[in-house]
Amino acid sequence: MRAYDLILKKREGQTLLKEEIEFMINGFMNGEIPDYQMAAFLMTIYFKHMNAEERYNLTEIMARSGDTIDLSFIPGIKVDKHSTGGVGDKTTLVLAPMVASCGLPVAKMSGRGLGHTGGTVDKLEAIPGFRTSLSEKEFIDNVKKHLIAVVGQTANLAPADKKIYALRDVTATVDEISLISSSIMSKKLSAGADGIVLDVKVGSGAFMKEIGAATDLARAMVDIGKRHGKKMVALITDMDKPLGYTVGNAIEVEEAIETLKGKGPKDLERLCVELGAQMLKIGQITDTLDSGRKMLEDSIKNGTALKKMKEMIEAQGGNSKVVDDPSILNISDKKSDFKSSKSGYIHSMNAEKVGIASMKLGAGREKKEDIIDLSVGIRLVKKTGDPVKAGDTLCTLYYQSEKKLNESIEIIKDVYEISDVKPKNVEMIHGVIE
Ligand code: URA
Repeated sequence: MRAYDLILKKREGQTLLKEEIEFMINGFMNGEIPDYQMAAFLMTIYFKHMNAEERYNLTEIMARSGDTIDLSFIPGIKVDKHSTGGVGDKTTLVLAPMVASCGLPVAKMSGRGLGHTGGTVDKLEAIPGFRTSLSEKEFIDNVKKHLIAVVGQTANLAPADKKIYALRDVTATVDEISLISSSIMSKKLSAGADGIVLDVKVGSGAFMKEIGAATDLARAMVDIGKRHGKKMVALITDMDKPLGYTVGNAIEVEEAIETLKGKGPKDLERLCVELGAQMLKIGQITDTLDSGRKMLEDSIKNGTALKKMKEMIEAQGGNSKVVDDPSILNISDKKSDFKSSKSGYIHSMNAEKVGIASMKLGAGREKKEDIIDLSVGIRLVKKTGDPVKAGDTLCTLYYQSEKKLNESIEIIKDVYEISDVKPKNVEMIHGVIE
């Protein structure tokens, strides 16, 4: 077998056999296939795509390239949740304690933020003392004892995906459905859950800007998971505006705590209830989505979800007083209001630009090695659909550096589109793929 022939085969739109995909991936990992041939191979996939069988095989090969986590020591059905990435997406911080308080074990490995999207691990590290890096034993023990642990990825999960992603990132081959779906699912499969609930975001702040592409991505991931014997469901959810009212790190933790107290933004609470109801059903805690929704809503009303958050923080070495007194969080006291120059309605928002503006303040990373500032971020005052008068504050920027503030404001200027007409309400959940 030669890499040249396989590149040519895909370039001509033919279907690759499992051993051919294996030859390319293994050869790339052991250094026999150079970057330039792998880059050409990825570009042929970008243009000619892969069918369901090829995607399944590619995922399987990447998932097997490193460690796999064995969650079988934890009793019950383990259900993971994955978001394709958004702005202000603090869902895991709220959802994980909610579902754990309903009796579903949550053994979650989360990522760090990159570019305009934030990451759960960075946000958790805004809680003083919180350890996102646990040994595999501590991780499993915590889930057994508390039904919850949320950590960063320590094990060497799907290293083939890591190496290939780095090449895709510099060869304009990231945004292709076979490549995205196999990349995400290879990591999810090696993380060991029995079922996976996917939150596929669509809109200006998401990877997928169009509903058609988001639906195709959701279908591809659900199909890969099912072929691997996993219970799968994907929700396609709105990311045309940021989720909730905060974008950053410490500031998002504060909002997550408020949400667990029942005082948070309704869009965030609704999303957590919908995703959570799917998780509880897959995990056989409930028979119907409605009973799951009720259980999750009750977990907020009766305080058990908040208690679970406190328990998780303590178990992972954090200062759990933060739950009663969020002022413990280090949120910058340097603030600047950004005001509207016009009256009307917020017709639309560019969520991606809110994410980039927050990154410019220091809350996110432009490059993987950048160090972030957990104290800065953006608090939205107005969102799509809200009426606004000239001079009203649209958002408040929490900053440390004047220079970064000025760069961020330049981006914020293009976020809001204001018109005389009130826009139609947009549904939070655009669809469910099973
Ligand atoms: N996230 C991933 O993990 N992989 C992709 O290819 C795209 C988004």
